[in-house]
Parts: sequence; C-alpha cells; structure tokens
Amino acid sequence: MTVQMSQPANVIASDNRADIASKTVKTTCCYCGVGCGVEATVEDNRVTAVKGDELHPANLGRLCVKGSSLHETQSNPNRLLQPMLHGEATDWETALNYSADKFKAIVEQYGPESVAFYLSGQLLTEDYYVANKLMKGFVGTANIDTNSRLCMASAVVAHKRAFGGDVVPGNYEDLENTDLVLLVGSNTAYAHPIIYQRIVKAKAARPNMKVVVIDPRRTATCDIADYHLAIRPGSDAFLFNGLLGYLADNNALDSEFISNHSEGFDEALSVAKAQVASVEQAAVMCDVAKNDLTAVYELFAKTTKAVTVFSQGINQSSSGVDKGNAIINCHLATGKIGKLGAAPFSITGQPNAMGGREVGGLANQLAAHMSFDNQHDIDRVASFWQAPNMAQGEGLKAVDMFQAVHDGKIKAIWIMATNPVVTMPDANFIREALEKCELVLVSDCIANTDTGKLADVVFPATTWSEKNGTVTNSERRISLQKGFLPAPGQAKHDWQIISEFAQKLGFEQAFNYTHPVEIFREHAALSGVDNGADVGANTRPVRGFDISGMQNISKQAYENLQPIQWPVNSHNPNGTARLFEDAKFFTASGRAKFLPISARFPQMPPKDNQVIMNTGRIRDQWHTMTRTGSAAKLLGHIDEPFIDIHPADAKRFGLAHKDIAVLENRGARYLGRVNVSDNQRASEVFVPMHWNDNFASSSRADALVNAITDPLCGQPEFKHSPVKINPYNAQWNGFIASELPVTPNADYWVKIPVDKGYKYRIADTVTPSNWSEWLTEQFPLVSDWVELTDSSQAFYRKVGFIEGRLAVVLNIARGNEQPIENRWLEQQLGERCDLNQRFAVLAGVAGEGVEDEGPIVCSCFQVGAKAIQTAIEGGCCSAEALGEKLKCGSNCGSCIPELNGMIRAFSPQHAAKQA
Ligand code: SF4
Repeated sequence: MTVQMSQPANVIASDNRADIASKTVKTTCCYCGVGCGVEATVEDNRVTAVKGDELHPANLGRLCVKGSSLHETQSNPNRLLQPMLHGEATDWETALNYSADKFKAIVEQYGPESVAFYLSGQLLTEDYYVANKLMKGFVGTANIDTNSRLCMASAVVAHKRAFGGDVVPGNYEDLENTDLVLLVGSNTAYAHPIIYQRIVKAKAARPNMKVVVIDPRRTATCDIADYHLAIRPGSDAFLFNGLLGYLADNNALDSEFISNHSEGFDEALSVAKAQVASVEQAAVMCDVAKNDLTAVYELFAKTTKAVTVFSQGINQSSSGVDKGNAIINCHLATGKIGKLGAAPFSITGQPNAMGGREVGGLANQLAAHMSFDNQHDIDRVASFWQAPNMAQGEGLKAVDMFQAVHDGKIKAIWIMATNPVVTMPDANFIREALEKCELVLVSDCIANTDTGKLADVVFPATTWSEKNGTVTNSERRISLQKGFLPAPGQAKHDWQIISEFAQKLGFEQAFNYTHPVEIFREHAALSGVDNGADVGANTRPVRGFDISGMQNISKQAYENLQPIQWPVNSHNPNGTARLFEDAKFFTASGRAKFLPISARFPQMPPKDNQVIMNTGRIRDQWHTMTRTGSAAKLLGHIDEPFIDIHPADAKRFGLAHKDIAVLENRGARYLGRVNVSDNQRASEVFVPMHWNDNFASSSRADALVNAITDPLCGQPEFKHSPVKINPYNAQWNGFIASELPVTPNADYWVKIPVDKGYKYRIADTVTPSNWSEWLTEQFPLVSDWVELTDSSQAFYRKVGFIEGRLAVVLNIARGNEQPIENRWLEQQLGERCDLNQRFAVLAGVAGEGVEDEGPIVCSCFQVGAKAIQTAIEGGCCSAEALGEKLKCGSNCGSCIPELNGMIRAFSPQHAAKQA
C-alpha cells in the first residue's frame, strides 16, 4: 500500500482561508470533554505554538499537557492523505462510487437494517448531524451508534429518567462555588485535568471547601482529597442508597423540594432502606471503614452546596444508569440542584460526546433530544427533514451492532473517527466481525489504524485545525473548533464526505451543504420545532436542548462563535448557565423523579484464581494513541503498557516490580509491565486503555473486557473484568533504539517514539539462536556493525551505523532484568560517531559530565525524576518551590500530584518525621 505523505497540489479550500494570515486563531481543544479554548499561533500554514485562551470560560487560559502539545501532534508520519480502496491509493470519485454502489445494493437486497454507521465523540456536531440525518431519515434505519455509548450512555438514561431530558444541570463555576465536591469514579486529575485544576485552585482559595474521592484506586486525584473512600468495585449505588437513608434518618432532607418539585421519593427511600438499612451495612457492602463513611455522609448532610462529579467509574458498568440515579436521588432529596454550587454533574469523556447526544448520534435517540418512544417526535423529525424513509424505531446499540455484523445480519458498516478494534469490549471479536463483513468503510485522519487495516475503503478526513464546526463540552457549552489550515492532501471534512456519499445514494437535495454553518442552522432550527420556549414567556420548553436562538446565525457570526451554553432561545438569547433554577423539569409533570434503586454488584464476580481488571486513562495519552502516540513528549511520563497491582497480589502471583505479566481472558491476552503499588486494592489490577497493535504487540486491554452491558443503556462494563494473571517468564529483556520504524521480531514489544526515531522495549520467552543474525535480518539497510557480549551471554549489545551515523542500538539482558536505558543514547541516533563514541554507544553510557534525567515527570518542561529528587533533597519541599527552581508543574499542573508524592517520599522533613 502506498500512502501519500507530501503536500499535494490539489488542496481543498479551507473554510477560513482569510485566517491563514493571522498570527493567532481562537479554537477549541479536540481531546477531552472539558472543552478548553485554545489560541493557536499559525506561521506558514503550520501551528507553531498553542496556549490556553484566557477568555474561554471552560479553562480561563489553562491547558493540560495534551492540549499544550496540540501543535506537536500535527505532523503525524501516519497521516492519511488520499482515499484507499482495498489497500491501494485511489481518487475520491472511485472510492465514493464503489462505496455508495455497494452500500445501495446491500440496502436494496437486504433492507435498511443490513447497514450501520458507527460514529465518534471526536466528530463535530455538524458531521454528526449529517450522518444521523442520512441514516435515520433517508436510508431508513437507526443503526447508527457512537463510541459515546462506551463513555456516557448511562448518564444519558439517568438524566432522562430523573429530569425528563438528557441535561446536565450545572457548570464548572459550580465547582468553584461549592463547599463540597464529591468525585465519584473519576480520576479527574488525569482524565479531566483542567476541571481538576479549577477545583485545586478553588480549594486553595477556600481551604474549608472539602473534597471527597470515591474510587477503588488511590489516584492522583486523591492529592487534594480530605477523604478517599476506596470502595469495593461496583458498590457505588449501595453507598448512595445508604446516603439516602442516612439523610432521611438525620433530618437532612429538603422537604419543600421533595413535596413541591419531585415525585417518587417515598418509594425510592423505601427501596434504598430495604437494601441498605444502616451506615454499618453500607460500610460492609462498600468495604470501607464505617467512620470514614459516616464522616462523608455527615459532610453531605450538613453541606448545603455540594457537587457530585461522576464519570466513567459510574457509567462503565452493567448497572451504570442505576448508579447515576442513586447519586441524583441524594441531590434531589436535599434540594442540591439548580443552585449555585449544587448539582449532580456527569462529566463527559470526549470533546463532543454532548454534541452527539444533541443530534441523536445514539441508536436509541432521535435528533434534538427527541425520542423514538413518541410518534409525534418521529413524525416531527421526518417532516422537518422531508425524509423519505424515516426510521420508526430504535437501532442497534454498539455491542449489539457489532454482534449483528459478526452474525452477518449487518453487511455494511461505516466507522468514522474511531477505532473499535481497540476500544470495544471483546475487541478481538470486533476484529473478527469486521474481517467477515461484506463492506467496511472507515473515515480517519490516520492511516493504518487497527480498524482501518480491515477496511475495504478508507476516506481521508480532516482533523483539528483543518475542520470547522462546533463541539459541546460537559457543561453544555458550545464552542467552535475552527478550521484555519488548508486540508492536507486529498483530505475532506467528514460532513463533506457524508454529504457526497448521500448524493451518490440519490439524496442530492437534502445533502447539498456547502458550509458547516448551513448544517448548524438546520440543527438549531430543528431544536426549536414545537419546543415550547417560543410560544410564550411563561411556557416551559418541552425539550431541554433548544438552540433555536441561533437558527439564523450568519456565517461570520458562526466563524467567530463565542462559547455559549444551551438552551439558547428567545427567552435566553445569551445562553443558560444553570438549569432547574426554577425547579421545573422536563418530565410530563414538571417534577423531578426519584428512582427506586436496587443496587447490584457487577454481573461477573472473579473466580479464585482471577483478579478484577479495571481499565482507564493515563495522564498524557488520548484514546488509542493515534494522534498523541506520535509525540515523543507525551510518552515521556509513561511509555509502556503496565499493570498496577497490590503488593499482596504481586507476591501471590510471583511477580516482581518491573516484571512483565500476562493477563488473559477468553483467549485474549494483555502484556504489561508490573507496577507494584498499594494504591490498588487487593485482588484488583488497573491497566491503561490506550495501547493498540501499532504501539505494542499484545496490549489492547479491551480485548479482555467482557461484552456485558447495562440493560437500560447498552453501556459496557469496562471497569470490571475477571482475568487470570501470570508471570510472563521472559528469557530475556532488552531494547532497540532505531532511526527507522521496525516491527521487532519478539513476542513482546512496545514502540516508543523518541525525538530522533523510535525505541522498542522487547522481551521473549524464547532466546534467538544467534543474536547477531536476529538483529541484522531486521535492519537489512545497515551493514556497519559493532557488537559486544560476554562468554556467559548475560548480555548482548550491538550497534549499527549508516554512513558513519548511528542507526540502530540493541541492548539485551538475560532473564527479567531490563538493561539500563538513558535518554542520552536515544539522542545519539543519527549522530556521526568516531571510534570513542562508538564505544560509548556500545557501552550505553553517556560521556563524562552528561547526566541522565530519569523518567520524565513534568511533560510540559521535560523535567526528569532525578532532577526533581535532587531538588527536593536539597530543600525544595513544595510544588511551588519546585516550579520556581525547575519549572516543573508550573504550566498545566498535571504533574503536581506526582510532585507532591515525590516530596512526601524524598523531603528531608518527611524523612525526619518518619524517623
Ligand atoms: S483538559 Fe486538556 S485535553 Fe481536555 S480539553 Fe482541556 S486542554 Fe484539551
């Protein structure tokens, strides 16, 4: 397969060509659901620097390390620049004709239920809208789901059940104006760093503000916690049922709110108390100390202003909807909603998970928060779209959708901006399903993703800085992701690709968009159709999502859109910061609903020889690393898949710190470096979700996750997979540093981009018979080699040169010991080496006066652990002091929890206290 890498002549016109000349452009970060505003510096059609937009209400000038590195992930060596058909480069006309003809033939032969779209929270709202309109209104099926199913489908249903609509009541300012923040199932410090930084700042300004972390793991987020409840995995709803009973028993209810603005309280309380009768019982169910639990219950009871932030630890569960409602019940019972500093607050993982919910990107939703449960809604959307084939019922949710692909019922699937072969539960099954599928279309900005490799057709899509459109963050704030660079190669915007495809299916008129503002206006107009807000001043909107106030937005206003929170309508033309201030909800009665919750533990308990595998994010990577994995800076902090394990379990399973261990479930395996840590509970391990087959030989964690879902919302149980764990029994460990990429001939390998090439950490259970041949076969272009070994073969080293410049380094150690690495060696790649330098690189040690920095702690300023430890031992005993001396922690602040941990470990004062 050939992939075009250079800038071609036929560049598609950007929507904002005028801005190319600008020095700085305001846009929005494309990673997480915080939705930070970014100011990008543009020179010569390149983003040369980024900084936080001080005027953007989501981040007020801050960016985390991922956002701060946006410009460093722009020139990705794997950028996809032209359409591919069966692995060969082709032109758009051929790719679209092939795809549309085949898709159409399948629909004609097998009906609309035989095709599906699988979308992504990375898409912009306009892309999402067009895809949803095409499938639900014109192809005639609701088989269109999104990877947001994997991240917040539980919260959607919980909101709908309690509030009558999928609305997040509060906003980020509530986090700063509250007296109590409960962070439940959320490693906010890593997954939503700027929200975390806002809480840190608020707590520093008002030390009486309390923070409670409820999470089985002790994470970086606990750095600011007054209480950490390390609960039994999956016991959250027991905890909140216990809290509801405690509130009732301790005169902490808001009777006025319960009587006048809610319904269902008595039944909810009775079910909660029948299950969790006392604090003692709650403590047993949750496996936490009764005193700690009582203290947290007391805090919630006596604090008028409390925000409960919940995220994937709640949502990614077979009972995630109930967990969400158990939390909301406690807020309703105490009237902690619709007020400054008081709200239940589901924070979304992806940059536009919320936008996807607005347009109906989920298979069980219609556009603009309308529902398949209501025939009027179906007819209203059909009429608005003038849809010839309006879907009449819900489609298949993600897990069921891929099951139908595997079963052959779905014969064509189009996957946009996501990588389900890495992220779906039972990911090897997803791979099998796609291998069998008659027509697989993939749109992506990156070539050869694990999913793209299985596609019949791959469409090159534009990405951040090239595409224009809106995203909605966790607090309902719509911001513009601005397209200010020309699309590279033949890449097109997703809405363009879908529209051209739709036209080839015969729907020219409904998909003749020429600019995303036209789509946005249509989306805004639909949100206002038969939505009460415009009927009269006192009319309560029927649906919370209403941006009809922007349906006539001009192109210029759209391209300069200021962040705004929905609803935006004639009554709230400047948006709505907080919902339910009037205690009126979107239910038929206008009252909030308590839900009776029978809490359940995860469906599949571990067997004796198993541990529970939990999955999640690390600080510096985003999703499947397709973009962030290309930036060496973002791999300085954690560069290898790992397994966090409690010391007792490490002993039980014969594992030492830094060994490789193997996790197994249903034939799938995950290899990772052991990290022994008492931050883990016993019998539970934590692994990162990010690594894919382009970056590691066997570390797709989600291949081990069972496809068990919440029956109400279809969200998979990513946080609880019973797996076997065993030592890997490596015969040898080592690393290759190379200027050029290679797939190492080893059972275990991890690819780590470094400044001047790549580093591969490698290991195997079998030793090659001839190390020299083993290496040279993998680097046929290198002929100038120097090697070093000992008679007992305890180690082997070999370095290779091309025209006198260092091209390859191999360093092998026998057994589980890893050879010592240092950054100096990586930095010699490509350097001309005289005889002395050849010996130095062969020895793998820096010359005199060159110190190795150790692993990177502060990614922003590339400050290593050794320098930090030295500074702490020299008297820098606060994060501020370290920041002044080394700059670490002084930009995004993401490393401050780790700095504080190092201060606790190495400061002379701490050592004296311990003594
Ligand atoms: S917190 Fe970081 S990743 Fe998330 S939007 Fe802000 S800068 Fe981007």
